[in-house]
Amino acid sequence: MLSTAFTRRVFPLVTALLFLMFTLTCGLLIHNARSQDKQAQADTLYAAQKALEDLDTSIKKAISDYAKWGELYRNMHLKLNVNWAYDGENLGESIYELYGFQGLLVLNPQDETVYSLFEGEQTPLDAKQWIQGDLEGLLNKARASENKDEVLSQLLKVDGIPAIVAAGSITPGKDPTVKERPGPQSVLLFVHILTPDKLKELGTQYGLINLRTTLAPQIDGSSTLQLSPDADSYLAWDPPRHGKALLDSILPFFGIAGLMLIASTWLVLRNALATAKLMEAHYRELTRSKEALAISEERFRDVAEAASDWLWEVDAKYCLTYLSGRFEEVTGTAPDLWIGKSLDELLSTNNEPLTIWLSHQKETSGSSPLVCHYHDRQGKERTCRVSARPIKDGTQGFRGTASDITDEVKALAQIKHLSLHDSLTDLPNRNRLNDFLNKHVGSSTRLAPVALLSIDLDRFKPVNDALGHAAGDRVLREVAKRLRNCIREADLVARIGGDEFIVVMTRVQGHEEISALSSRIIDQLHQPIRIEEQTVFIGGSIGVALAPSDTDKAEELLRLADIALYQSKAAGRNTWRFYSHEMNELIISRRRLESDLRQALERDELSLHFQPRYSLTGDRLTGFEALLRWHHPEHGLLMPDRFIALAEDTGLIVPIGNWVLMSACKIAASWPQPVGISVNLSPRQFGRHDLINQVQHALTESGLDSSRLELEITERVMLDDADGALETLNSLKALGLRLHMDDFGTGFSSLGYLRSYPFDGIKIDRSFVAGIGKNPDDRAIVQAIITLGQSLGMIVTAEGVETAEQLERLRGDACDEVQGFHFSKALPAHELSLLFGQ
Ligand code: C2E
Ligand code: CA
Ligand code: CA
Repeated sequence: MLSTAFTRRVFPLVTALLFLMFTLTCGLLIHNARSQDKQAQADTLYAAQKALEDLDTSIKKAISDYAKWGELYRNMHLKLNVNWAYDGENLGESIYELYGFQGLLVLNPQDETVYSLFEGEQTPLDAKQWIQGDLEGLLNKARASENKDEVLSQLLKVDGIPAIVAAGSITPGKDPTVKERPGPQSVLLFVHILTPDKLKELGTQYGLINLRTTLAPQIDGSSTLQLSPDADSYLAWDPPRHGKALLDSILPFFGIAGLMLIASTWLVLRNALATAKLMEAHYRELTRSKEALAISEERFRDVAEAASDWLWEVDAKYCLTYLSGRFEEVTGTAPDLWIGKSLDELLSTNNEPLTIWLSHQKETSGSSPLVCHYHDRQGKERTCRVSARPIKDGTQGFRGTASDITDEVKALAQIKHLSLHDSLTDLPNRNRLNDFLNKHVGSSTRLAPVALLSIDLDRFKPVNDALGHAAGDRVLREVAKRLRNCIREADLVARIGGDEFIVVMTRVQGHEEISALSSRIIDQLHQPIRIEEQTVFIGGSIGVALAPSDTDKAEELLRLADIALYQSKAAGRNTWRFYSHEMNELIISRRRLESDLRQALERDELSLHFQPRYSLTGDRLTGFEALLRWHHPEHGLLMPDRFIALAEDTGLIVPIGNWVLMSACKIAASWPQPVGISVNLSPRQFGRHDLINQVQHALTESGLDSSRLELEITERVMLDDADGALETLNSLKALGLRLHMDDFGTGFSSLGYLRSYPFDGIKIDRSFVAGIGKNPDDRAIVQAIITLGQSLGMIVTAEGVETAEQLERLRGDACDEVQGFHFSKALPAHELSLLFGQ
């Protein structure tokens, strides 16, 4: 603060003094110079006045000698004798040469100019015209009686130039020989014109520079003198100005010095101010930190009383000496009850006693806090985080804080549970499963054998799709409950995907035990599940892999169980399979087949066979179904059951299906009779938005009449996306073709679809046809389907007709059309001519 005061008050004072001195010096200098110039002006004025005076005196003196001379009175007044005057050199050239007055005139008593000389030459001049100004006044004064012996002078003008005109009445003077005649006198005039030349001469004589006449007083630094009080004529000259010259030469240096003074002052001032500011900031900082300290102390007091933490202090024997006010609020117990008691009584830890931990704090000050437990007044266990610091290296005890973290611990446990469990079923999830497997599966010989059961629900997706996700969730929760009931305490059941569950059986004794568990699970899953008004039937397939016999790696165990699961599904579901090495080979060969299938189209290995269909009413050929064949380079001719599922899994069915559609249409267009052509459509094709375009394209390219094309669709199409399917089916119908529902009777709820979707016909699945002769139920189902289909105005086709007996039964039940080995298997295109009857 002091330094700022200095800078703000003293420094400006010093600077002001400096500037004052500088200004004074300047002022003094200017003043001196000015007075010097003034003195010079006064001096020259005096000289000028003197010059004029001398001039006046000399002209008066000269004229007086002539005007008061008896001889002149006689020759120029009493009579006019020019010869006497000029030729006799009495009043002629010599006067000009002697005095330099330019004009000499004699005026008679009537003021007529009777004799005149200009610059010594006889020149006729008329005084009244030649001389301007009050000449008359001068003449009158000159003739006045009191001026008998005197001469007068006055400043008048000649041709606009000021001139001193001296006048003297012509009298005999002191000459006693001449008798004076009464009456007005003649007058003699001497005229001294102040021409520039004359003035220059005069200036040189009197030290007056640039002496000249002007019409007005000069204001540009020149000096002036009025020539006569009543005339506008002035004498002007330039007085010497040494002071100004001095200033002119010296002032620039003073200016520079002044600027330098200002600059240096500014610099010094700036530096001083910056320093002062710095000091001020420093001072302020000091004040602030003092304030901060006060605030921090206050804050500490507030925190001690307001925070969820409470403070404690123990003496060197670990007995409590202080507990902050917050202790009672948090624990519900008065601090007094605890003062004097050991800290160990209040707080317990998971490991060693708290006092042992405290004793280590002497060496390692500020180590991480310790989690402790205590009981509140209700006897509920709570958790807190304790931190401690030694007082005087622990010789006087310790002090520290305890933060209650009971809620935090609870939340953490909850988060941990969530991260390890499936939120829908509350079963362990994949994370927990991995933890569990890592604990029980490994190369260590100490580990007991483990069986991993991979469980996949059958028919769960249709339930989920048909009844909604809420129902699906209820099913999954029920499954979870049942699975949990099947296992022992030491085992684990986890949900790792939509309808995928894993059971890990520990301490396995043998295969029988695993089979028993698997059987129990399958049985449980097979039990009907009631969801509100509905009863749902699902099932499950299980794949089993063993550790360490199959693998001792947790991840591998999951993979192997999946392979076994795949096999159990292929084996007809609702069963279980143990993993074997051959299964793995199967998987490998499937992969190889997949890569072969990718190239099948390009290599032209696919072809179509055609199976005829007949009308029972007229015993005539109504059409063919196109069935796909693959001529594999190694395996020979492959039937669709070997590769259609694979093509669907990999999406290859889309390009393959488009190829089938185009080839079938082209071949059918070349047939001799306009019979129908049925093409099977995969659900995967159905879900694609460009299906309509593809069908339209095949029809246009092949030139096939759209009424001859039939598309066979299974109800799986409707299950995937019922609304979208309806739209697509309507669009297809709009193209003019026909739609048949394939494999009727095997699906989930065919009836509903049949009513609301635009099908032209249905194909009874060959599994029912096969049972016609043997199984009364199958016969009943077939009859019901025929009746239903016909009641809806649809063509009913029975496929898989192998025997004459089956045919007769179907005929009896009034089935519309038949197809099967009894008539013909599917044949290549070039073998169809027989069937056309050609
Ligand atoms: P599907 O549509 O039910 O075709 C009829 C299947 O039954 C054909 O088997 C046919 O050869 C066989 N079959 C016909 N008559 C009899 C009989 O009297 N007894 C027995 N046991 N079977 C008979 P295929 O050709 O092996 O086709 C199997 C399945 O592959 C077809 O079943 C169809 O779902 C699918 N499929 C065939 N070609 C294509 C195709 O181009 N695209 C699509 N997406 N699927 C196709
Ligand atoms: Ca079919
Ligand atoms: Ca079929």
